[in-house]
Amino acid sequence: MSTSTFSPTATAVAEDAENGAKSSNFLRSVIEEDLQQGTYARRRWGGSPGDGAHHAAGMPDPAKIRTRFPPEPNGYLHLGHAKSIWINFQMARDYGGVCHLRFDDTNPEKEEQEYVDSIRDVVHWLGYETRYADVPGQPDREQPHIYYASDYFDFMYRAAEYLIESGHAYVDEQTPEEMRANRGDFATPGKNSPFRDRSPAENLARLRAMRDGQLADGAAVVRARIDMASPNINLRDPAIYRIRRATHHNTGDKWCIYPMYTFAHPIEDALENITHSFCTLEFEDQRPFYDWLLARLCEGGLLQTPSPHQYEFARLNVTHIITSKRRLRQLVEESHVDGWDDPRMPTIAGLRRRGYTPAALRLFCERSGVSKSGGWIDYAALEGALRDVLDPVAQRALAVLEPLKLELTNWDALFGTGHLEACSAPLNPHDEAAGQRHFTLGREIWIEREDFMEVPSKGYRRLYPPHTGGDGNPKEGNKVRLKYGYVIQCTGVEKNADGSIAKVLAEVIADTKSGTPGADSVKVKGVIGWVGAHDAAPAEFRLYERLFKVEHPGEAELAEELNPDSLRTARGYVEAGLLAALQAEDEAPAPWQFERLGYFVRDRSTPLATGQLVFNRACGLKDGWKA
Ligand code: ATP
Ligand code: MG
Repeated sequence: MSTSTFSPTATAVAEDAENGAKSSNFLRSVIEEDLQQGTYARRRWGGSPGDGAHHAAGMPDPAKIRTRFPPEPNGYLHLGHAKSIWINFQMARDYGGVCHLRFDDTNPEKEEQEYVDSIRDVVHWLGYETRYADVPGQPDREQPHIYYASDYFDFMYRAAEYLIESGHAYVDEQTPEEMRANRGDFATPGKNSPFRDRSPAENLARLRAMRDGQLADGAAVVRARIDMASPNINLRDPAIYRIRRATHHNTGDKWCIYPMYTFAHPIEDALENITHSFCTLEFEDQRPFYDWLLARLCEGGLLQTPSPHQYEFARLNVTHIITSKRRLRQLVEESHVDGWDDPRMPTIAGLRRRGYTPAALRLFCERSGVSKSGGWIDYAALEGALRDVLDPVAQRALAVLEPLKLELTNWDALFGTGHLEACSAPLNPHDEAAGQRHFTLGREIWIEREDFMEVPSKGYRRLYPPHTGGDGNPKEGNKVRLKYGYVIQCTGVEKNADGSIAKVLAEVIADTKSGTPGADSVKVKGVIGWVGAHDAAPAEFRLYERLFKVEHPGEAELAEELNPDSLRTARGYVEAGLLAALQAEDEAPAPWQFERLGYFVRDRSTPLATGQLVFNRACGLKDGWKA
């Protein structure tokens, strides 16, 4: 258990305030209306989840609203989940409420501790607090605001007995085939089960027989008795309990019957005093059953009123991204990507390794809005949010991704052999307080391969040597400024035996250094980046593009949809001083802006101790992707 004093909340609140005001959405309107009407003002809170009596004995609920994020711990979280986390935790934060992190672990077969831990870490990392008190040594499940649905199995069973006793449920012993055939379809009403009219006493005895292991798996289910002719098929006597002999990670072998999700979920919400239960649109048809069930249990005095209310919103869909766990698993298992945290994956682990920050993801969630109808958000909006968050805070450095050597041939004559000229630049031009960084310019430097052309194309403003122009007249070598350094003029090029360029030759123009009075004495049209060949640190750059070339992936075979050029690797150099800064942040690398090149983050899966310096490109400086 972590006992760190890291407070995601305070940092997140400050960052979000910097990044802009919140926008309205229909869920905010619902909450504001409820607060104004005092819909939930009289609820009481027993200090922990519980039934009606437990809460009645408690205090007025100190939380103005309660929301919950209810993941099934059966996989890694992705961008869609981030949206759900944001909706639930952010609404609670904005309206004086509390959000519960609830592990929906009612299905005995699928959950794993590894996922429980990673989900908890993601929620914290995104900037949300899941507990008030971090008590060292206290096991996780006793801490406030982290809940496990399986802790409510006793109540759920009691609710099933109550429904049976009050004639609202029955044990159905039809075969699964009969049940399916008798359910009807959209056009045909269902048929009542021959077991539907057994007496409550008979049903109760059968339920207890189920519970006590006297019936085989699949031999019977408990069904709510509602209406086999309902136009909403979900109300045609839905199953609420099934027999399944499986060991549950929390309750072990205590139960051989388990509640169905549609029965469990409303009860979990009610026991936890949830006010607003937000879910995705596919649950809209379940809402009548949600309301029916809670109304019955309130009538019986089992639960506190008023009940929670379910609201549906459209899933987040982002172009060029898939957010289905099944598809993501396929990408990993078929080795299209390098694991769940591959920087091209839309998992939170992947986005984080790519350089996405919690503030950027929150800003994206805020901007992408909440609506009742689906639609696609452009991938550019995701990158836009990252750029907008990073630009004011990311530190700057110079880097050269595709290096070409350049020699300043008059250096020794001008400054003396071995001279290193001190240069400086702001760590962040938007933030004077961040201070300056310092580096040195010498006789040999690395420049970007594309900043030199032996024969310039029309309009090319960077380095080129003296040559004969298209009009047959001789042209001078071009002058450019070395960023934060001198103006230089290209004088020629040295070739290898194979004709490739070994070195670009240039001369420094004296008295033109940036920041000195002579800086403007020579006008140039181009400025280029560079790093000193004497001290730059070699680095690998992983240049990522979208994983899918198609806008709406998931409709065809993976192989047809994947972008074959989603990763390109370059080997170059970074400004010498960067290494020391990186060493200081080894655990949690922050993204940097490599000037003119984009935002990069040190790859967290390649520790500095390996001696390798690997950077992942988070995004470019502007939206430059062409379909
Ligand atoms: P998947 O379809 O990828 O398996 P899931 O919905 O089954 O996801 P859960 O663990 O049940 O995964 O999800 C937890 C919460 O996250 C649910 O409330 C679910 O509605 C929400 N959620 C999942 N994907 C999205 C999405 N794309 N947009 C918004 N919310 C989502
Ligand atoms: Mg699910």
